[in-house]
Amino acid sequence: METNVESFRQLGIAEPILKAIIEEKFETPTEIQVKSIPLILSGKDVIAASATGSGKTLAFGSGIIQALEKGKGVRALVVTPTRELADQVAGALVKFSRYNPLKIAVIYGGVGMGFQLENLRHADVVVGTPGRLMDHIRRGSLKLGKIRTMIMDEADLMLDMGFIEDIKKILKECPAERQTLLFSATISSDIAKLAQRYMKSPVEVSAVSQVDPSKLMQVYYDVADDMKFSVLAHLLKNETSDLAMVFCNTKRSVDFVAKNLNRNGIDASAIHGGYSQAQRNHTLSQFHNKRAQIMVCTDVAARGLDIKGVSHVYNYDIPRESKQYIHRIGRTARAGNDGKAVSILSPRDYGNFDAILRYQRVKIAQETTPQVTKLEASKGGGKVLFGRDRRECNCGGQGHGQHQHGGHECACENHGEGQQGQSRGFGGPRRSYGGQGHGGSRGGQGRPGGYGQGRSGGFGGRSGGYGGRSGGRFGGNREGGYSQGNRSGASSQGKPGEGQREPPMIIKRNGRVVRVKRRY
Ligand code: ADP
Ligand code: MG
Repeated sequence: METNVESFRQLGIAEPILKAIIEEKFETPTEIQVKSIPLILSGKDVIAASATGSGKTLAFGSGIIQALEKGKGVRALVVTPTRELADQVAGALVKFSRYNPLKIAVIYGGVGMGFQLENLRHADVVVGTPGRLMDHIRRGSLKLGKIRTMIMDEADLMLDMGFIEDIKKILKECPAERQTLLFSATISSDIAKLAQRYMKSPVEVSAVSQVDPSKLMQVYYDVADDMKFSVLAHLLKNETSDLAMVFCNTKRSVDFVAKNLNRNGIDASAIHGGYSQAQRNHTLSQFHNKRAQIMVCTDVAARGLDIKGVSHVYNYDIPRESKQYIHRIGRTARAGNDGKAVSILSPRDYGNFDAILRYQRVKIAQETTPQVTKLEASKGGGKVLFGRDRRECNCGGQGHGQHQHGGHECACENHGEGQQGQSRGFGGPRRSYGGQGHGGSRGGQGRPGGYGQGRSGGFGGRSGGYGGRSGGRFGGNREGGYSQGNRSGASSQGKPGEGQREPPMIIKRNGRVVRVKRRY
């Protein structure tokens, strides 16, 4: 298809970028581009909200490229939450500025400083993650005094990852006279506050999700906890046609799934923040080149990554926040292709799933669970553990929590899942998401000390969360049977048959607890 050049030109985009757009074979601007580019090019501060894959990079990229004076120090700064996104944004900027080349320095942690120091000396544009940007600012190797445009990309994720203080410091380093652009998938109240404090009468624009509902099929399977993995493996073997992304809520869960898929003869690569940069880059390139078909990942690791040709999105764990569900499914059914989002839920996911149905009002059809043989997946007492520093776990799936503390991590699916949250152990005030708190009475448990993780390093997973058991579990009539997860860290959802009590069932009406029923 030909590019409708005029439709881009009308937004104010000039020739050099138009030429690049033609080469990229973009037909017409996306909704968020139509709404934001004219504002950005006119120098306004803009807050733009739209889903992953809607073309936000070109929106701020055209602003940077068109306004930039070269060779005059760092004039534009893009802050991104993850290293992969920094690479991706820089790569896109290189493409869009092909006919007006800029010097772009990419700055993130986990790699040596030398090359970055060299690049920074000549850079016109810097793209980087908050932590390493701060390192360079402190060392004096990055000076922001000449910044004209400051861009926060995936701002909601940066806040979720606990980068707020770094971001504020970076903003304060930039001259007051500047343009500030904020891009995000969603606009939370924290973002609104940040914008109010650091942006000048920002104009807010947003675009509806690019997911075409007629192209996206959403289904779920309701399975027993111990069959989750087997059902996933079965579906991956029998259903996937193109690339598949399997989402898990925690790094531990990613490791568990990826490891066991491979053990069962299904090639899968894994990506999460615990891998080295080299490993993550390798995995991504394998996936981009379609040498790998299945990627198991956390939300954070996959966020914002531009991966084409994803036919299936699997939710091995149901996300804790409904907006994450929307992000996940938005990875498929793109660019006119069909896609399928498959959620595999077991009792531990009911609470999360119910929240998704209520808040997003999405239609997700139940599928009959296929009859599958239970596969061997390493659990407690099992054999397979990865990495040098993980020893075998003999806990037999019991006594969760305890053994975590001795620096011994176990990959058994029964415990620990959930409590690691998304926080990365960077120290500092990270937000811990608490855990699903399933398995054992200790619930989601932050690791004490050392890791800077978890609000108080203590207990308090978002436990429980049985969703309306009565009257049809999901989508049906939930009257009188709605039970929410409670916040007491000490209770959680144990599995029957493991010597644990079933959790109390909390019955709410109009948001108020009317009854707590103990079940023995
Ligand atoms: P976002 O930042 O909103 O997640 P990206 O900027 O990463 O989205 O863009 C997603 C993909 O869409 C990229 O491969 C990009 O090249 C492509 N793209 C951007 N604008 C257009 C357009 N107008 N038409 C078609 N594809 C586009
Ligand atoms: Mg983006």
